Amino acid sequence: MRIAVLDNELCNPKKCSYECIAACPVNREGEECIYIGPDKFHPQINESLCIGCGLCHKKCPFNAWYIVNLPEEKKESPIMQYGVNGFRVFGLPVPFQGVVGLLGPNGTGKTSALRILSGQLAPNLGMVSEGRSKKDVYESLMKTHRGTELQNYFERLLKEDVKSVYKPQQVNLLPDVIKGTVKEALKNCPDEIIKQLELSAVLDRKLSEVSGGELQRVAIAAALAKDADIYYFDEPSSYLDVRQRVNVAMTIKKLAEKKLVMVVEHDLATLDIMADRIHIFYGSPGVYGIVSQPYSVRKGINNFLDGYIPEENVKFRDPLQFEATNEKKPSKTAAVAFDEMQKNYDQFSLTVDPGIIYQNEVVGVLGANGLGKTTFAKMLAERQDVKISYKPQYLDSDFAGTVAELLGTADRQDKIIMRQLGIERLMEKSVKNLSGGELQRVAIALCLMKDADLYLLDEPSAYLDVDQRMALAKILKSFGTVLIIDHDLMLINYVSDKAMLFTGEPGIRGHARVMTLNEGLNEFLKSLNVTFRKDPQTKRPRANKPDSVKDREQKEQGKYYL
Ligand code: SF4
Ligand code: SF4
Repeated sequence: MRIAVLDNELCNPKKCSYECIAACPVNREGEECIYIGPDKFHPQINESLCIGCGLCHKKCPFNAWYIVNLPEEKKESPIMQYGVNGFRVFGLPVPFQGVVGLLGPNGTGKTSALRILSGQLAPNLGMVSEGRSKKDVYESLMKTHRGTELQNYFERLLKEDVKSVYKPQQVNLLPDVIKGTVKEALKNCPDEIIKQLELSAVLDRKLSEVSGGELQRVAIAAALAKDADIYYFDEPSSYLDVRQRVNVAMTIKKLAEKKLVMVVEHDLATLDIMADRIHIFYGSPGVYGIVSQPYSVRKGINNFLDGYIPEENVKFRDPLQFEATNEKKPSKTAAVAFDEMQKNYDQFSLTVDPGIIYQNEVVGVLGANGLGKTTFAKMLAERQDVKISYKPQYLDSDFAGTVAELLGTADRQDKIIMRQLGIERLMEKSVKNLSGGELQRVAIALCLMKDADLYLLDEPSAYLDVDQRMALAKILKSFGTVLIIDHDLMLINYVSDKAMLFTGEPGIRGHARVMTLNEGLNEFLKSLNVTFRKDPQTKRPRANKPDSVKDREQKEQGKYYL
C-alpha cells in the first residue's frame, strides 16, 4: 500500500510553479493523479493512480511531498487520517491496569493516540471525505476489537463515560497560559502530593520565576490532583534530575495501582522503572505511525532498540547500539584548564576544584538540579581566553525568520551535522512554529556549527526522542571538545570520556570535581541509593528494582554502576 502525504507547512504554491503537477508521468499520460485540490491552492494526489516514482517530491523546490510504501502487512485502514493526503495512524495502545509506556519517535502518532483515547479526538477510520457519525465509528471499532480491553473502552467513550487528565509535553509554555503563583496553580492539590513532589519551598513563587524542573513537577502535581479514570503523562522526565525522575516514576507507578495510566517517555532508564507494558510506535515521522502490540517492558525496549519486532515480523530500522566505539581519541593537549573557581550569590555558593578538559574529550556533567551546573557552564561561557559555543538549557524561539535564516551559511561539516540531526526538512519553517524537539535540534546545530574550542551543551536531550538522542550521541563521539550537562544516564554513559560530578545541597551549596566516568557514575548513583546494571542483550543501563537481589548484591560490593 502506497501513501502520499503533503507537508502543508512546506508546500508554498506562491513560491513555485506547481512543479510537482508538471513532473507527474501519470498526469502526462492524461490521468488526474496529482491536481489542485478543493482549496484551489494546494495540490492533492490520488493515491490509487500514483505509481510511486517520487518525481513530485524531487521536483518540488521544498520537497513537500512524501511518497511512502507502507509495510506489506499493513492492510487495515488507519484509525485516524488527517485529510486526503495527511498523516495517518494505524492501531491504538490498549489501556490497562498499570503503567502503559508509549515508545517511539516524535511524529509517529503518540499524541493522536492519547487524544483519541481521552475522547478529545473522534477517530475517522481513514474516511476523510464521508462524514460518519460518532456512534457509527465507535460501533465499528467495538466490532473490530471484540473480546479485547479496547471493546469496553470504546463502549465507555461512546457513552462519554471516560474522564481523562493530560500532562502536556512542553511545560516551559505553562507560564504563558497560567498566571500567578505555584500555590494558585495547585490550589486543589493535596499537601501529600506537594510534599511528595518536593514543591513546598516554591509555593509562593510565580510560575514565570520557577525552573523547568519545578514547572515539570507543578504540571505533574496538577494532573495527579484531578480525579479521572485515565491519566496521560507526556514526557514527565524532561528537566528533572535523576533522583527526581526516580521519584516521579515511583509516584506515577503508585497512581497506576488504582487508575489507568499512559506515559510517553524517551528516557529509557526512567521508562524502565515506571512502565508495566510497552507499545512501540514506528513508521515515518509526519507521514504515518503504526502501534505495535503490547510487550513486557524489557522486551518492548529491547525490540525498539533492535528496530525489529520478531513477534510481528517487522523491521523498522537498524539497531541502535549502546556500546560506543571511540571514533576520536582525546589528546593530551588542554582545551580548557581552570583553577579553583568560586561563585557566591543570594544564599548559594559554588566551588569547582581545579581541572583540565583535554582536546577532543567529552565530559559528562552529573548531579542533581540546584547544585550549580548551569552556573558553572555560564562562568566558562564568559571566559575571554577560550572560544566557547553554548547551547542554553531553555530555548528562545523569538527569532522572526526561518530556520535557514537563523542557521546562516553552512559548510560541508555543518551540512553533515544538519543531516544527522534531521534539520534539512525544517529549513523553510518559521522558527516560531517549531515544536520543542525541532527547536532543540536547531539550537544544538546552531551551537555545533560555530567555531569554538569548547562546546557546552546544557540539557540537549530535552524533547528529543530516542533516535534523535542516539543521532546526537554519534555526532558528539566524533566531534570536538564537549561538556554536556544532561540527566539521561544512557546518553551520558554513551558519549562521555570523563565525568564532572556536582555534589552538595541543592540551592545552598555545590561542589564540582572532574573524575573518570566510572567513578563519577558510581559516586553519583551511590548518592541516590540507586543501582544500575547492563542489559545483556543491548548493553543499555537498566535500573535495578529497589531491594532486589541484584540491587543488594551491587550495593554490598559498592558497585552502583555495572
Ligand atoms: S508541493 Fe511543491 S511544487 Fe507542488 S505546489 Fe507545493 S510547493 Fe509547489
Ligand atoms: S509519485 Fe510519481 S506518480 Fe505519484 S504523484 Fe508523484 S509524480 Fe505522480
